[in-house]
Amino acid sequence: MDRPDLIIRSSRVVTPEDIRPASVHIRDGVIAALGEWDEIVPPVSLTDAGDAVVMPGLVDSHVHVNEPGRTRWEGFATATRAAAAGGVTTLVDMPLNSIPPTTTEAGFQEKLAAARGQCFIDTAFWGGVVPGNTSELNPLLDAGVRGFKCFLIHSGVDEFPHVGEENLREAMPELKKRGSVLLVHAELPEPIEKAAEELKGENPRDYNTFLKSRPRESENKAVELMIRLCRASGARVHIVHHSSSDVLPLLKAAREEGLPLTVETCPHYLTFAAEEIPDGATHFKCCPPVRERENRERLWEALKMGVIDMVVSDHSPCTADLKLMERGDFLEAWGGIAALQFTLPVIWTEAQNRGFGLQEISRWMSEAPAKLAGLDKRKGKIAVGFDADMIIFEPEKQFKVVPEIIEFKNKITPYAGMNLRGVVEATYVRGIKVYENGRFFGDAAGNLLTKNYD
Ligand SMILES: [Zn+2]
Repeated sequence: MDRPDLIIRSSRVVTPEDIRPASVHIRDGVIAALGEWDEIVPPVSLTDAGDAVVMPGLVDSHVHVNEPGRTRWEGFATATRAAAAGGVTTLVDMPLNSIPPTTTEAGFQEKLAAARGQCFIDTAFWGGVVPGNTSELNPLLDAGVRGFKCFLIHSGVDEFPHVGEENLREAMPELKKRGSVLLVHAELPEPIEKAAEELKGENPRDYNTFLKSRPRESENKAVELMIRLCRASGARVHIVHHSSSDVLPLLKAAREEGLPLTVETCPHYLTFAAEEIPDGATHFKCCPPVRERENRERLWEALKMGVIDMVVSDHSPCTADLKLMERGDFLEAWGGIAALQFTLPVIWTEAQNRGFGLQEISRWMSEAPAKLAGLDKRKGKIAVGFDADMIIFEPEKQFKVVPEIIEFKNKITPYAGMNLRGVVEATYVRGIKVYENGRFFGDAAGNLLTKNYD
């Protein structure tokens, strides 16, 4: 065995096969070998994690960094610091809310220029499909986006317009040719417009009013449409932030049919319940909405069955004024939940209560999102040949979410005040320690993942 630069060992190392005592040998930022716990080649730099868990860093494929253009909402420096503190070693930035959006090759170059030199972790990028930009899709792929996001309903920002079936029938064959993936915000406008008519005069501070304004039918119909288009085009489709449990049997059938379809959900849908959200608590607002308790439990069931593949943050912050906290108006407030730093302890706390272990978490939060973004030859696993993106995690320790520990820019989050299980002690990106116990190390040395990453 060639001499490693660093060995990290623990009595609990999470690999795709098991959790076991092992030593992870790292050379040039890559996992060179997985040895027995006592297989140490002196002289070497050894980090002994004791009984703390060593597991793959998270790959968060759904983050809105919002820079350039809406840098008051978030930015590459703050987002990637929050990510590192939360055990995320790779994030994939969404194409909207930044100005310009990543819907043209020129827009992508502006984003790369903004990101360069600011990222504490490795960072990749999604492009966007909007009406009329089909000719930009190939140049965007050539420049290194990992795939594309689109909306079927107003996106919340005017510079990223939503697409209709006609636009998708044009774009999806292009994506199919390149083996690329289309990420879809799956809500259709008609049921929401109808609901708005019926809700006139109801109290906008009541969470139930908001819940009724984004009915399940809107998601159900959108998923039906995307299954049809996936079948017709053969292009890979990924449903982002899935919430409605009604349509899980349909998704299951589509998977069984062999369609190239994947599904994500988010920590808020797996944690909160509509029945418990206080009046006026607009920091819980996101679209599609957090639904009823019974819906939440069916999402957990779908994760267990493999109908939902992954859990990612959909970190989508904004400035405090846009949340209209004083008025508490759910219908007018910005929709988006900030949580990037807390997804692992949130999911670990909830998952443990339901009998899941760290291997499942690793599959949902590292392996599956890495695969979605085409990073799965180097990211998402502790295995020989993979980047040494790892965290030291104390699953039995607890902490409270207080503003002082929040690293993302705007400290408004529905997890505030919660006691969570699981503390990220240290985060390594390609074998370099970037974070340990509240401290950050070195320059922002994260790579921008724009090349083929094999
Ligand atoms: Zn999003």
